[in-house]
Amino acid sequence: MKPVWAEVITIGDEILYGQTLDTNTQWMGRQLNAIGIKIIRKVAVGDQQEEIIKALNEASQRADIILITGGLGPTKDDITKKTLAEYFGTSLVIDDEVLEYVRALFSKRNLPMNALNEAQALVPQSCTVITNTMGTAPGMWFERDEKVYMSMPGVPYEMETMMEKSVLPRLKSIFSLPVIYHQMIQTVGIGESWLAEQIEAWEDQLPLHIRLAYLPSFGRVKLRLTAVGDNRLELENDVAEQVKQVTPLIEKYVFGYGDITLEEAVGEMLAKSEKTLAVAESCTGGFLAHTLTSISGSSRYFQGGIVAYSNQLKMSLLDVPEQTLTQYGAVSEETIRAMAEGVRKNLKTDFGVSTSGIAGPDGGTPEKPVGTVWIAVAGPGETVAKKISLSKDRLVNIRRSTVVALNMLRQTVQATLANPS
Ligand code: AMP
Ligand code: MG
Repeated sequence: MKPVWAEVITIGDEILYGQTLDTNTQWMGRQLNAIGIKIIRKVAVGDQQEEIIKALNEASQRADIILITGGLGPTKDDITKKTLAEYFGTSLVIDDEVLEYVRALFSKRNLPMNALNEAQALVPQSCTVITNTMGTAPGMWFERDEKVYMSMPGVPYEMETMMEKSVLPRLKSIFSLPVIYHQMIQTVGIGESWLAEQIEAWEDQLPLHIRLAYLPSFGRVKLRLTAVGDNRLELENDVAEQVKQVTPLIEKYVFGYGDITLEEAVGEMLAKSEKTLAVAESCTGGFLAHTLTSISGSSRYFQGGIVAYSNQLKMSLLDVPEQTLTQYGAVSEETIRAMAEGVRKNLKTDFGVSTSGIAGPDGGTPEKPVGTVWIAVAGPGETVAKKISLSKDRLVNIRRSTVVALNMLRQTVQATLANPS
């Protein structure tokens, strides 16, 4: 089957100036991918006729489908419609249905109409008008040389509704599209290059219709398997077989499949085994508790947390001995162990997790440089503690520490369940 290629052109000075984040192409990418259309390029241009024409010319060399968003407002700065009329060598004419629709919309909202609003009903003569049920700027569908050009408003919810209601169904009916199937393997605690090394032999034997991608973020790496073909069930089976082969090679790093997050995976383990959890946070300042409680149903296992920033609170709320703090300091193995054990005891839970470190960018010493973080997990068995060395970026350090803490918790819970004492 011949692959179908799409290119997206976003139009608007605000995108180039960095004032508006281009969320449209991200959304479109997902939708197109789901129906088997491959995006081969995304291009952003300003509200400039010359640049728009150049982008259209180039896109038509590469793609079967050219999707355009932006520049359809009624004001003079928006020139997409005029430019499209020129590009397709046609003139702008009033579309009675659009005019009727815009008038009805204004009268329903009790607003007066002006010439600019009326001009929204002007469309290039050769296009098929696609109704905008969420606003006044109509969508415009053109066909030339077996290619489709579709111009849509920049306002995200207008574009999205238009795509869902009209554009995607039309594309599906015109093009014969392959099935694209994705499966994710979620890993944590191993960098992508080491992961790649572990699974190299497996990766090299993957069949041609299955591709592998490494998607890293903050201590985790997603392995995405993408299969392309024309039978969904067969693709699902082929991918499942590959997942079965690769999993044993990286078992201890895999925390789940599909869209699951690390906090969800840990939560599921705790909920299933009816175990409870409390956290004692210093350098993560509540981010660990926040991450855990972002999961609906977390009250089944998460009892609560203590953000003990000062030494005073580490002593009074977590029972860290004063002697430990003065002798070893707040960022030390002795303190982190005492914090995890203290919160577990005082909040009466099965597991206690603690964090303490120098988040930065200031505050380091030669022995304890910025980015030094201690993390511990106390459970029914032995308390485990670990030191990690992170960066100078405060918020990055907080996020990374949280991922490491969740992973240590995952491993501890797993070990406890495997060897109940
Ligand atoms: P326009 O169709 O150019 O009048 O765009 C209207 C509004 O939609 C702009 O002011 C932006 O806020 C928003 N917008 C335009 N393009 C995008 C895009 N690619 N992603 C997200 N928002 C956009
Ligand atoms: Mg604009």
